[in-house]
Formats: sequence, C-alpha cells, structure tokens
Amino acid sequence: MERSLLIKPKMDDEYPTAVRGEGVYIYDAAGHKYLDGSSGAVTALLGHAVPEIIDAMYNQSKSISFTYRSQFTTDAAEQLAQKLNELVGSDTDYWSFFVDSGSEATETAMKIAIQHWQEQGNYRKNKVLSRWNSYHGITLGALSMSGHLERRKRFAPLLDELPSISPPDAGLAGAEELDQAIRRKGADNVAAFIAEPIVGAAGGVLIPPAGYYERIREICDHHQVLFIADEVMTGIGRTGRMFGMDHWGAEPDIITLGKGMGAGYTPIAAALVSARVMEPILKGTQSVMSGHTYSANPQSAATAVAVLAYIEKHGLVERSAMSGLYLLDKFKALGAYCPLIGEVRGKGLMIGIDLTADSAVNRPFPKEMGVTAAFVKKARDNGLLVYPAAGASGGDGDTVIVAPPLTINQEEMDELVRLFKKTAAELQ
Ligand code: PLP
Repeated sequence: MERSLLIKPKMDDEYPTAVRGEGVYIYDAAGHKYLDGSSGAVTALLGHAVPEIIDAMYNQSKSISFTYRSQFTTDAAEQLAQKLNELVGSDTDYWSFFVDSGSEATETAMKIAIQHWQEQGNYRKNKVLSRWNSYHGITLGALSMSGHLERRKRFAPLLDELPSISPPDAGLAGAEELDQAIRRKGADNVAAFIAEPIVGAAGGVLIPPAGYYERIREICDHHQVLFIADEVMTGIGRTGRMFGMDHWGAEPDIITLGKGMGAGYTPIAAALVSARVMEPILKGTQSVMSGHTYSANPQSAATAVAVLAYIEKHGLVERSAMSGLYLLDKFKALGAYCPLIGEVRGKGLMIGIDLTADSAVNRPFPKEMGVTAAFVKKARDNGLLVYPAAGASGGDGDTVIVAPPLTINQEEMDELVRLFKKTAAELQ
C-alpha cells in the first residue's frame, strides 16, 4: 500500500504490516518474525492460529453467529456463563453480563454496583472509588475510575476526582487509605471500590503484600461498599491462578474479565456479578440498565468457551505459574549484571521489568528521555514484542511488561530472554 490513511496510536511510527500468526510468533509482510512476548496487549493467551479455536469458531458460524440478547439466549452464551460460574468456584453463584471490551466490563460493573444500591432505595450511594496507578478502561466511566495520569489529562474536566489511595505495592498502609477515603466521602455516598488484583498498564505489575485484600474486604464490608476486582488483565490464568484474586483470601462482589477471555480470537468481556449483588435487582426492576448490541453474541461466546476448554485441557494455568517462575529467575539473573534492568517482579506470566538509569538503587531515567518507548521500538526491531507500562512509583519510571502466551515453551522463553538482553545491551 502506498500511503496509510489509518489513524494509529502513534502517527510518527511506521508499523509493520502483520500478515500471519502461529503459536507465539507473528510474521509481517516483509518476512520479519516477532516473538509475541506480551500477547499483544496481554491478550493472546493461547498464541496465534490455534486450530481447535478456529474450528470452534467455524462450527458456531455455520449454525448462527449473531442473535440479539433481548430476543434470544443461546447454548453458547449459557454454557459460557455456567463455565465462568464454575471457575469462580464460590459458594455463591456469579451471574454473567457479557460485553465486548474490558472498558465496557468495568463500566458495566460500576453501573450494576450503583443499581444494586438504588434498587434498595439508596440513591446517594453512587461513587466508585479507586486507587492511583490504576487502569480500568478508556470510555469515560471507566476512565473516571482510572488512576492513569497520562490517559486522564486530556479529559480531566469530565472525570470524577480520584481519592488519594496509593497503589498496592505501597503495602498494608495503602489499604487503610481506602478506609480514610470512604470516611471522607461518607459511606452513604460510596457504592463500590474497584481495583486490579495486580496493577498492569498503569504501574507495570504492582503486587500487594499478603493480607492486603483481606483488609480491603473487611473495610468494604464495614462500610457496606461493594468490592469490584478488575481481572481484565489478570484473569483466566495469566498470573498462574485462574483469577488474580485467587492469590488472596478475599472474595469480590463483582469480577470483570476481558483480554484473555477471547484470547485475541474475538472481542468479548464480562462482568461477573455475585448473587448477593443481583438479589435486590431481581427483586426489583429485574433488568440491568446497560448492554451493547453485540453483548452475549453466540459467535464470541462459543469462542470463549473453546478458549476455556483449551486452557483446561492443556493445564495452562499451572503452566503459567511454572513458566512464570522460570522467566522471573532468568530476568532477575539478567538484572544482576545489566545496569538497565532494575526491579523485576511478577506472578505467573505477568512480569514487570523496570528500566533504570542505575539499577543498584532503581533510579529512574528522566521522563522526557522516553526510555520505555525507545526500548519497545528497539525490541520490536530485534523481533521481540513487549508491552509499555507507566512506570512504578506514580508513573514516573520506565517499565515494560513481559506476558507471553501461556503456551510458550522453554526454548521460546530462552529466545525471549536472549532478545530482551540484546535490546538492553544495545540501549545501554
Ligand atoms: N481493565 C484493565 C485492568 C486493563 O488492563 C484494561 C486494558 O488494558 C482495561 C480494563 C480496558 O480493557 P479494553 O482495552 O479491552 O477496553
């Protein structure tokens, strides 16, 4: 093609034209091969062009691809809802509300939380609190809950102010900040608290200490505030457990999923809502005031069912935990002698790597140097895809996320580390 008229996130960057994917690799039109070390945006959970998923998609499309959610239910959507409820594995049932993206899932969660209180006659309880260094999506409701400075600043006048609640790596004291924020707002005005179990794009894999979410749960219960776990990035095995929250002993009231649920084969996401939250809605108006044209379409639902079946059949959650340990060790070893590589942290195949001016003290580069962007571009030139995150500690630093498909094998992981090392050496 002569000239691109495509609006790209970065207009000054010449993107390669992707033509084919296979396993953990993507190939471009010029014949270059890329190791998908980030599953795109932490999405392609199974790798590319997996025959079982393609077969399931084809089979569904031969019967029916689209039905509208207020006219029909389908076996595919019902099966998916049953399966997700089984995977949550709680004593309480979780209802599924299907949408098409993570942003829609968190926005739906917000609306259902507010409706939960409205159905009980409580119309003031309508604020959703969240932390800094968080990302819940790009639509206005989701962005309003997101503590991501860069993505908020253009629309700041349209967004709610965020309370000062630290990211989860600030430790247990950070949980107490939620208690203070609820008291400042007045519990009568707060519908819910939303948090990523492990912070992704807005912090580069920030992991809370033991006991953090148990304390968050206590605070929410004490103030009668719902707890929404945004598992759009951490869900479906990414962190070595089926859900990120499975690393802690606290049960959310609403769970949001996206990315890995369709594994890049189809846009699908969900808000899973506990029966406790649904009860006043079912006793009241019996209808959730949210939804999109493509919500619960059978084509996407059948694809997600096939993705979940594949994960189970191939033990990919356990594999994510084991492969994550292997990669974490490798990157920590690399960091010991590579000054550019600072702190390395992760759970399962969700690994954050700080890029530092002085790794001995984790000293960040000045923001204007744009080190993350330079690293991502250089890595791509070297045939490796990594995901840029806003840095740790308030978004100041430089961090990249390594999150390959859960299907990656040892040889491919060694290649990933080798390409990462080559990139670091060239930028040093
Ligand atoms: N929530 C989390 C935790 C995310 O990481 C993202 C995307 O990065 C979203 C929500 C928004 O998802 P989407 O980009 O599919 O709208």
